[in-house]
Amino acid sequence: MSQAHSQDLSAFTTFRLGGPAPQVIVANTRDELLDFCAAHPLELNGEDTAQVLFIGGGSNLLIADAGFDGPVCVVRTTGVETTETTTADTRVTAEAGEDWDSFVAHTLGLGLSGLEALSGIPGSVGATPIQNVGAYGTEVGELISSVEVFDRVAGQIRHLTAADLAFGYRTSALKRAQIAAGTPQFVVLSVTFDLQRSELSLPVRYAQLASALDVEIGTRVSAALVRDSVIALRRSKGMVLDGDDHDSWSAGSFFTNPIVDDPEILPAEAPRYPVTDPLSGAKIEGKTKTSAAWLIEHAGFSKGHSLGEGRATLSTKHTLALTNRGHASTADVIDLAATVVAGVEDAFGITLEPEPTFIGCSIDDGRRP
Ligand SMILES: Cc1cc2nc3c(=O)[nH]c(=O)nc-3n(C[C@H](O)[C@H](O)[C@H](O)COP(=O)(O)OP(=O)(O)OC[C@H]3O[C@@H](n4cnc5c(N)ncnc54)[C@H](O)[C@@H]3O)c2cc1C
Repeated sequence: MSQAHSQDLSAFTTFRLGGPAPQVIVANTRDELLDFCAAHPLELNGEDTAQVLFIGGGSNLLIADAGFDGPVCVVRTTGVETTETTTADTRVTAEAGEDWDSFVAHTLGLGLSGLEALSGIPGSVGATPIQNVGAYGTEVGELISSVEVFDRVAGQIRHLTAADLAFGYRTSALKRAQIAAGTPQFVVLSVTFDLQRSELSLPVRYAQLASALDVEIGTRVSAALVRDSVIALRRSKGMVLDGDDHDSWSAGSFFTNPIVDDPEILPAEAPRYPVTDPLSGAKIEGKTKTSAAWLIEHAGFSKGHSLGEGRATLSTKHTLALTNRGHASTADVIDLAATVVAGVEDAFGITLEPEPTFIGCSIDDGRRP
């Protein structure tokens, strides 16, 4: 474990934003991570419980300019283990700190399919179950068989099944527990995936991906080809990390796609998608998902929209990403986010919800012009 020392957290986030923290340690091994967890138990409703911050790749975090006044653990544990379960399926377990996209490439290299549509997403393996990472028609929860966690309340390691994790759209039991306690109760140690032994992808579900591949929805094609197409599509939207591309100095999509009970409240032209159960794939009746990007655009915010001097802007390639053009502060990003939320509310009566985890700041801090 690295010696704890004060550090600027902007070095650990893809927004490249966040002020100082007095105690930052990097856990390179499982023992180091467990030692940190054991030293920082969590007592629910306990007044003395100090806040602790865990960081993986920092790609879904917006940290206050004032920083974080507590211990920070950067999770960098590594290791991947593969077990044949049946002739068709293989179980693969990765330590939390493994780089997600390298892990996806590794599984495809082993001839295992399932994760190909999730190619190019930044961050660590351990963070993927927390918000049930999803892209291009696949959510990670569909492929996860279990997650090994350290429960900071019970002070012990637990294995949570997919059912325990209760995945939903950009959420899980892990995220809900984190929101309830204001700090993670469950620290992800490793994630186990059930993958198919096949060179073919899962059936292509996303219209834009099907069109890029020139196939019908539902077709299975080479998983390697899906990976290449997804990365190319993502790059065209600034959705792969690239130090030279300020459109990727972001947390990816800043808002989740709203889910409404009454589709009548949506404008007639707004996109409508079914909401499905992540485990069974069955349509959930009475719920309709719409597109946050569509609402933002039709509320009058176009690509590249900025306030004032333009230190933070909407991505020039994708209205759903808020970006740091190099000299932004977290306050600049929050002002822009609050302005977009207010504009969409005024236009459509729908309140957009941010997707990243906010540390020491809130969208309510935003000043609206
Ligand atoms: C360019 C870009 C594109 C993106 N595209 C997508 C996309 O297509 N789909 C999508 O779903 N997301 C996307 N994201 C968001 C982000 O990449 C994912 O949410 C990713 O899984 C976050 O991983 P991370 O390791 O960076 O997590 P961090 O940002 O480090 O952490 C996120 C949250 O998880 C907690 N956490 C991290 N590690 C652990 C652990 N081991 N145990 C307990 N808690 C932990 C943190 O405390 C924090 O609350 C994108 C982000 C960027 C910058």
